[in-house]
Amino acid sequence: MTITLEPPAPVLAAVAGGGSFPIRRVFCVGRNYAAHAREMGRDPDREPPFFFTKWAETVVPDGAIVPYPQATTDFQYEAELVVAIGKGGRNIPVESALDHVFGYAAGLDMTRRDLQLQARAQGRPWDTGKNVEASSPLGLIHPAAEIGHISRGFITLDCAGQVKQSADITDLIWPVADVIAILSGLYRLEPGDLIYTGTPAGVGPVVPGDKLIVEIEGLTAVTVTIGQPLE
Ligand code: MN
Repeated sequence: MTITLEPPAPVLAAVAGGGSFPIRRVFCVGRNYAAHAREMGRDPDREPPFFFTKWAETVVPDGAIVPYPQATTDFQYEAELVVAIGKGGRNIPVESALDHVFGYAAGLDMTRRDLQLQARAQGRPWDTGKNVEASSPLGLIHPAAEIGHISRGFITLDCAGQVKQSADITDLIWPVADVIAILSGLYRLEPGDLIYTGTPAGVGPVVPGDKLIVEIEGLTAVTVTIGQPLE
């Protein structure tokens, strides 16, 4: 039997110390910092987390040029702590959730905000606002076996030389273990899955030429540059 098309190459992420991590799926948490929920016009109190997904192929590495995407005039940064899942499971208890973590990285959930907000207002899916080509920059994955688990420490985003987002991982409404427990109640998590855990307040737009740097305490920074729109 012949395969009619060339299968796509796996999407690989670099691991600190060498090797690569094959990315299976990308899950993202909406609104996981109270101040960001407020800036988006929502009440963060006691709302359970919700999730959306992006293709694995939206992940691009440190140093990438992220082309300004088509069909938007409001492309925005969202700095995020990213969890790489190493061990799968369904209905994972919060007490053992961190056992499923392979490692952590700094990342960006780049967003066509105009399309996201239009969809939100109309009660439509967020896909065209969120699941965007090259929209998920990811830094080096640091294995938890080497650095431990990330439960505190600064998270900052610098855009074109100015600090735009500055918070602490302790500000997460739903910490990593809770996110894994809740998400695994919706899907069986698989090795290779990534979870972008949500962004702090201070999101804003980019223009071609902007350099974005996400720094998270204990992790390697991730830097990308916004490129010209693709023809
Ligand atoms: Mn996000």
